[in-house]
Amino acid sequence: MINGSQADWYHVDVMDGRFVPNISFGMFIIKQMKAMASKPLDVHLMIAEPEKYIEQFREAGADVITVHYEACPHLHRTIQQIKATGAKAGVALNPHTPVSLLADIIEDLDLVCLMSVNPGFGGQKFIYQTVPKTRQLKEIITTKNAKTLIEIDGGVGLQNAEALLKAGADVLVAGSAIFKSENPLDTIVRMKNISGLEM
Ligand code: ZN
Repeated sequence: MINGSQADWYHVDVMDGRFVPNISFGMFIIKQMKAMASKPLDVHLMIAEPEKYIEQFREAGADVITVHYEACPHLHRTIQQIKATGAKAGVALNPHTPVSLLADIIEDLDLVCLMSVNPGFGGQKFIYQTVPKTRQLKEIITTKNAKTLIEIDGGVGLQNAEALLKAGADVLVAGSAIFKSENPLDTIVRMKNISGLEM
């Protein structure tokens, strides 16, 4: 269904039961997804010590690999490690982590993922502070003349998509808003029509 939809990417949430209190799946499942998916796999690693597994996720089929700021004491090195595999490199921030912490690395990043819920579970309520936070991040990106995409992840749907796009978001991740709607394909079209966004 998603292959035939207007969605641009598959967003894949990997959870390890350590960095987040939930466990989802790993490389084996991603490999199966890659075999069926006709769109890029945007792999969000909600895991501790992601640097141990970057190459394996790339081999499994990840096109974008996003690690958490909070899980990477040597973030610059980890980003270079992702890029060396040929994947696009992203950093995710938990709701409490300020965007200013990325100012010195923003030019190296293909994507910044702002968590608009606490990572670990689907179906949570959107944290509204993410909207001004998106604006702040957009300002850092513009000032540095970087090409970094801003992705918003958690509680995103038709009710807040426009505010996020206006604040500077480029990529909206929607799970429940799509799959719990009556007509997922139609909901994707409606979200896409709000603006020329990637999703
Ligand atoms: Zn995610």
